Amino acid sequence: MGYMSDKEPHAATSRRIFLAGSAATFGAGVVTGPVAAAASERRGHHHPLHPAPWPDGPGRRNHPQQPDHELRAILAEIDRHRIEANIRKLVSFGTRHTLSTQDDTHHGIGAARDWIFETMRSYAARSGGRMTVEKQSFIQQPADRVPTPTRITNILATLHGSRFPERVYVISGHYDSRVTDVMNSTSFAPGADDDASGVAVSLELARVLATRRPEATIVLAAVAGEEQGLYGSTHMAEAFKKAGVDVQGMFTNDIVGSSTADDGTRDPHSIRLFAEGVPTDETPAQAAIRQAVGGENDSASRQLARFVTEVADNRFTDMHVRIIYRRDRYLRGGDHIPFLERGYPAGRFTEPNENFNHEHQDVRVENGVQFGDLPRFCDFGFIARTARVNAATLWSLAAAPGTPKNAQVITTNLTNDTDLIWDATPGAARYEVVWRPTIEPEWTHVIDVGRATHAHINLSKDNVFFGVRSVDHQGHRSPAAFPTPKL
Ligand SMILES: [Zn+2]
Repeated sequence: MGYMSDKEPHAATSRRIFLAGSAATFGAGVVTGPVAAAASERRGHHHPLHPAPWPDGPGRRNHPQQPDHELRAILAEIDRHRIEANIRKLVSFGTRHTLSTQDDTHHGIGAARDWIFETMRSYAARSGGRMTVEKQSFIQQPADRVPTPTRITNILATLHGSRFPERVYVISGHYDSRVTDVMNSTSFAPGADDDASGVAVSLELARVLATRRPEATIVLAAVAGEEQGLYGSTHMAEAFKKAGVDVQGMFTNDIVGSSTADDGTRDPHSIRLFAEGVPTDETPAQAAIRQAVGGENDSASRQLARFVTEVADNRFTDMHVRIIYRRDRYLRGGDHIPFLERGYPAGRFTEPNENFNHEHQDVRVENGVQFGDLPRFCDFGFIARTARVNAATLWSLAAAPGTPKNAQVITTNLTNDTDLIWDATPGAARYEVVWRPTIEPEWTHVIDVGRATHAHINLSKDNVFFGVRSVDHQGHRSPAAFPTPKL
């Protein structure tokens, strides 16, 4: 602090203002209360620890979107007993290791693959031809954790959109399993939580959604090769990319089977959603813009995560969605990453507290402690609620118009207001500009701008973050698009 001295009154004054400002912004955890209080007292101001958000501006408060009649019916149909039966069936194959046998009808990953395929087909049979089921198969050449050429097969149930089939939303669970040694393809590897639970979510949503007509396309997937290195999901994401498919949201459900931690902590009404800030596929040019004007909390994946809390954190799902501002947990990865690498918005659902005695472990008892990923450690009511969060998310996305494309903020001149433009979105009846103070995590304000695809807002783009979303005649809203600067 050598730059501060009593001989420099200007510096001392700045320091007091800095302390007071810090306390107001960050709370007493950073700058202790008495120091900040003394500073404000000297300035003759009172600074509350939680001041009203600044700045204020136009628009009404942003509120969550409540489920419509059809979505409530969908949520009510999700059946925990069906989920439990499907998880127990997947466990019954003994192992679903990617390198396990593929030509035994009762044992190994091949039997699991065929059972998932036939189960999905039985659901699709009730769809009037709108749901198709495929085996997306490929030979993985020798690579890390895959010593010999190995067939890997994803099962995709695709419910084709009634109005906008070219717009796609994907959820996925991985049906391969493992024990302590990732190369062990013969030991009992029940994989009930990791990740029969996620596969059960895809299966249950396929069952419940098969008879319905979403406007956009929904893909319910079960992939393999996850434990060996995300091989199945990488193939799926690459296939979408090569075909130019407009995937506007992807979620992996991986380890969504239990709400109890190794220390017994229970949190049965919370599901974590991991969502990255800085995009995995960010280019140097995009990084330069972000460094200049911010946006590290406004990736397409973060907008998707905000959307999930708005549509799926409510009494109908009976769940709280706990967004985590990171791509995945420490030392771990998941099937959303290949989508992020290809520029698709994506996130990962995972239970709130993990028990690592139950993941990637040989099934055994050690000092009276049961290790292994067994169905007895699953909470099937919790998995059903997680399935409801997924259903609310997918249905709300597929019932709404798509996220506006090419949203831009005009930055030709220095001004104290904001001009936004975006492309017309198929199915949109009108648009909303959303905004929030830069330190707020969620969109706080909404401005209805009607049918126009541009807006002039009397609020400085320097002081808040803006987004644009599309709305249909029934009031279904898309996730927000974060505008890039138009120079
Ligand atoms: Zn997993």
